[in-house]
Amino acid sequence: MPAPFTSHRASVYADVPDEKWNDWRWQLSHRLNTADEIEKIIKLTDSERKALNTTGLFRVDITPYYISLIDPDDPEDPIRKQVIPKDTEMVPFTAMMEDSLSEDRHSPVPGLVHRYPDRVLMLVTTQCATYCRYCTRSRIVGDPAATFRREEFEMQIEYLKRTPQVRDVLLSGGDPLVLAPKILEELLGRLREIPHIEIIRIGSRVPVFMPMRVTQELVDTLAKYHPLWLNIHVNHPNEISLELEEACDRMSRAGIPLGNQSVLLAGVNDCPHIQRDLVQKLVRLRVRPYYLYQCDLVEGAGHFRTPVAKGIEIMEALRGHTSGFAIPQYVVDAPGGGGKIPVMPNYLVSMSDHKIILRNFEGYMTTYEEPVIYTPHDPKTCVYCQNKRPEPGQDGISGMLDGDTMFIKPEGFDLIHERDGIQHRLKDEKKWKPLGIGPGDPGKN
Ligand SMILES: *Cc1c(COP(=O)(O)O)cnc(C)c1O
Repeated sequence: MPAPFTSHRASVYADVPDEKWNDWRWQLSHRLNTADEIEKIIKLTDSERKALNTTGLFRVDITPYYISLIDPDDPEDPIRKQVIPKDTEMVPFTAMMEDSLSEDRHSPVPGLVHRYPDRVLMLVTTQCATYCRYCTRSRIVGDPAATFRREEFEMQIEYLKRTPQVRDVLLSGGDPLVLAPKILEELLGRLREIPHIEIIRIGSRVPVFMPMRVTQELVDTLAKYHPLWLNIHVNHPNEISLELEEACDRMSRAGIPLGNQSVLLAGVNDCPHIQRDLVQKLVRLRVRPYYLYQCDLVEGAGHFRTPVAKGIEIMEALRGHTSGFAIPQYVVDAPGGGGKIPVMPNYLVSMSDHKIILRNFEGYMTTYEEPVIYTPHDPKTCVYCQNKRPEPGQDGISGMLDGDTMFIKPEGFDLIHERDGIQHRLKDEKKWKPLGIGPGDPGKN
């Protein structure tokens, strides 16, 4: 196995003994956040110094562990750019928003985002071990005053108890793994008391920013609340240190399935070769690449954005070129709150009756003959179809295919098409309902 990335600790923190370095409390209390402190480790550029000396900037805090992964002499270092602000961060761009995913609008109670039918995002803290400059939640993250209060947590739990359609709770923030151990355990326990919650997920960058926090004790605690899944957030191969490798190993051995979410960032990982190296290193750690996100339209992240074409190019370089399970899904998280929308190269080239034309990653073109005779699946005799879980108002396109939904109309569609006209003799509601009498129609038989 190729060696993991080695840190610059030996040159920048030579005098810190292991027992301090490996203590996550020491890491948290020795985080760097001012130009003066950071300058002792890294020679800052004018742009960085200017940003660091600006008031009102999104919070800066970097663990000694993470800053020592930066090459102190390289202003283009991919880790440096994720956590050290530059003055370009203050440049506004068209379409920039405070809450680009409209999360707060889709929160029935503070900190709980219920967007999909069967699962919720639960924000449990605004604090992180280190702050990413492109944070999608910079509107609240980093601000201790914005963190969630006890009564808000109780409101979240109450909402979950009265909403039996929720079977999956994704804990995020902020970073759930910076919570005090007691609080984290209480939270997991309270969720596990709710019978309809089947799985708990945690999204955390602690293993990347502070792998020493992932102690055997923490992992044992998490494992008490199985089934529990965890996604880490690695953007570049340089973040894969021996410490991260060991932290992932501890979690995997505790039966926690690990995934990775990364963000496509200009100047950091907007390269097919970096991405391929990253995903291949992740699967060696038994971490399954899950999502690659297009960078959100969030204040401060303008200089990190790439065209979507870059993401398509990266996906083209992965599919077929590496193990299928090393390939994340590239998604655009819909501005305004539509959720994650997958985007990928086109592989279906054309089609006719019973025949489709496909191309593969090499540009090889093939035909697939579809069956001429197919006995369609019969929902009337399928117990799964009979007992399908309702998705109130959210069955979407699948509901159009599978159920009785015939249209999804833009808001105001019916009204605008009335054209202020009258209810006349040719307008009869029956006319636009299927007659249900053809062969194979459910009305028949
Ligand atoms: C990402 C996200 C989820 C989880 O989505 P999956 O595709 O199931 O991983 C749930 N709720 C919200 C609001 C999200 O942004």
